[in-house]
Amino acid sequence: MTEFSRRRFLQSAAAGALAAPALPFGTRTLRSPVAISSANGVKAVELAVQRMIEGWRPVDAAVAGVELVENDPNDDSVGLGGLPNEDGVVELDACVMDGPSGLGGAVGALQNIKNPAAVALKVMRHTDHVLLVGPGALRFAKMHGFPEENLLTEASRQKWLEWCEQRSAVDKRIAPEENGAEHGKEWFDKYKHKTGTIHLGAIAANGDVGSCTTTSGLAFKIPGRVGDSPLLGCGNYCDNDVGTGGSTGRGEAAILANGGAFVVHQMALGKSPTDACLEAVKRVVRLTKVKRLLDGKGRPNFQVHFYAANKDGKVGAAAMYASQYAVGDEGGGRLVDVAALYDEAPR
Ligand code: ASP
Repeated sequence: MTEFSRRRFLQSAAAGALAAPALPFGTRTLRSPVAISSANGVKAVELAVQRMIEGWRPVDAAVAGVELVENDPNDDSVGLGGLPNEDGVVELDACVMDGPSGLGGAVGALQNIKNPAAVALKVMRHTDHVLLVGPGALRFAKMHGFPEENLLTEASRQKWLEWCEQRSAVDKRIAPEENGAEHGKEWFDKYKHKTGTIHLGAIAANGDVGSCTTTSGLAFKIPGRVGDSPLLGCGNYCDNDVGTGGSTGRGEAAILANGGAFVVHQMALGKSPTDACLEAVKRVVRLTKVKRLLDGKGRPNFQVHFYAANKDGKVGAAAMYASQYAVGDEGGGRLVDVAALYDEAPR
């Protein structure tokens, strides 16, 4: 670490009245670039690592990786084929952050553009802003040549329609089983809290970091709802002196806990990536107080994941309930179990 960065960290820690040790990382060359992502990103981390081996900047490698998932019509949590808002319109959120420059870019509630992470990259590189939303974000994307397209696949439309038919006891829509059809109530439970996203943190062999999160957000959300994914410090954060942090799952919880920044800060204080993520999950537990968000045992009744990678190339993830995440290095991509705060599903 340079003298300047060490001094800057100590100053900011002092301002926050924290007992701050020196940052636990040196500058060293890693054997291989490393990438970490949510479990839907095995191919994405492989591609991100490959791009970094070719010399791409970590943030660009991260965006290239997540584009595989954004372009996949069968992943209904991101980009094309994402589950829509309650009006049946796919609305996307994404952000990127670049360690070496300390810059970030983001888009929220963006409709009809398949690759919001690449648009976020343009916001970072071509404006003095960080976050563009809604029609302004769409206009900006079109100015930069992103094609407008319908992102609702037939499969996602069907799921949205069934959600509409299940959601109300008072409107005139009827679920097929009420008229004698076979499939049933599990639809509602299945889609009530349906989430999905990809976060990808990338560490280059020289220790530079970059990160990205992209999503279609909470399924069947109120139009205009923005989750944690496009909010720097919540669904995604990185600091070139420390590493990357991000989240997936219930975005409202990650926003209220400032999850991504919290994870990175925990690593700056000396925690391992896994322990930093566990601290973030515990913080969510502590901040979750209202009854509607708790199960019969008083535990949060939702899933949330945090992911971390540090400059030494170490990675880790934790979640409220058992789950997996993806790790990539020169040996390829693989799934690994997260550190789960609770073993059994919420009840
Ligand atoms: N965090 C995303 C959101 O709340 C959803 C997810 O990760 O599943 O928009």
